[in-house]
Amino acid sequence: MNTRELLAEYTLPTYRRYGPVFVKGKGSWLWDEHGEQYLDLFPGWGVSILGHCHPRISAAVCEQAQKLIHLPNNLYQHEQAVLARDLVKCAFPSKVFFGNSGAEAIEGAIKFSRLYGKGTRYEIITMSNSFHGRTAGALAATGQKKYQTPFKPLLPGFREVPFNDYPALERACTDTTVAVLLEPIQGEGGVNIADEEYLRQVAQFCARHDLLLIVDEVQTGMGRTGRMFCYEHYGITPDLMTLSKGLGAGLPISALLVKDTIADLMQPGTHASTFGGSPLVTRAAREALRIIKDENLRERAQTMGDFLCGALHKLQKDSPRIIAVRGKGLMTAVELSADAAPVFQECLKRKVIVNATHGNVLRIMPALTVTREEIEQGVEVISESLKNGGTE
Ligand SMILES: *Cc1c(COP(=O)(O)O)cnc(C)c1O
Repeated sequence: MNTRELLAEYTLPTYRRYGPVFVKGKGSWLWDEHGEQYLDLFPGWGVSILGHCHPRISAAVCEQAQKLIHLPNNLYQHEQAVLARDLVKCAFPSKVFFGNSGAEAIEGAIKFSRLYGKGTRYEIITMSNSFHGRTAGALAATGQKKYQTPFKPLLPGFREVPFNDYPALERACTDTTVAVLLEPIQGEGGVNIADEEYLRQVAQFCARHDLLLIVDEVQTGMGRTGRMFCYEHYGITPDLMTLSKGLGAGLPISALLVKDTIADLMQPGTHASTFGGSPLVTRAAREALRIIKDENLRERAQTMGDFLCGALHKLQKDSPRIIAVRGKGLMTAVELSADAAPVFQECLKRKVIVNATHGNVLRIMPALTVTREEIEQGVEVISESLKNGGTE
């Protein structure tokens, strides 16, 4: 059996898979088993934030893998300690819990909120079109019926309101509300950017009513939007923040940061993760954080993002199929008048990888190391795909 047949025969059919079988990656490029080269403008769904196999990440992982791969969390280890310090230093005064996935960080935030509410307040206000992951708790927090409906009954304690609608949030708050959970830019939901005034109002409302402000930066964090964390654009500070995707530059790690003044609500035994924060993944994440700083990748995300958005706006002028172009840094989307999946397929045929989400949205989130030339090549192919195909 070949790779495709093996996957079909032996893995749960939870994924629609496309394209060739990839065997190698470098920067913004992937190679298939026949040596064909693809431009990857959506590396790892935002995970491979430094591109594929950044030499410093590969070197750090190789070195650490020969020294110490895993330790349980009841023993002391150095790599986790220094990563936690480095993360807190570039975020806000907080303490960190390490897990393995975005959803696991969200689960931690939900459990922390329950502790904070002391049994009397437990409800978390969530946003329509949000995405927080697929585990049972994260799913209950995800404001999208298509993901939730087959799995009812869901974990109770969530109340969904429209995104960017401050009065709706005010109205939804009751005596049982304990927290507000949102993405500063909804990724999976179509790259919907929080209004500046809105997020400031939400932060003030949370402070006034003793609600935890939980900012999900699983997709927007680690320099993606031109700042280390997207909340920095808004002049607010969250109480809790979740990170994952780009955090380990390809290795599976997530972090929940909790404001230091309340962090000690979690005590030994209240929460845990067997794999969480092991030496291998924390070493990779620490190296990734250094690379983002050493290579000025926040600034780069901003300039390359502006360049990409500019090119897409130009494209919009002679493409009636484009309704809108939006983005912050290198988190970019093109909203189309029809389904985006055929355009994704057409791009893939032309050896460029992008993403179709939320029906009619083409999402482009290149590595922060992407070059001007790569963006130009990619936009050219998107343009051809819009003109010459991908109409259904
Ligand atoms: C991807 C994503 C998650 C879920 O992450 P997993 O690692 O797939 O569990 C949660 N929140 C946001 C904003 C995401 O983009």
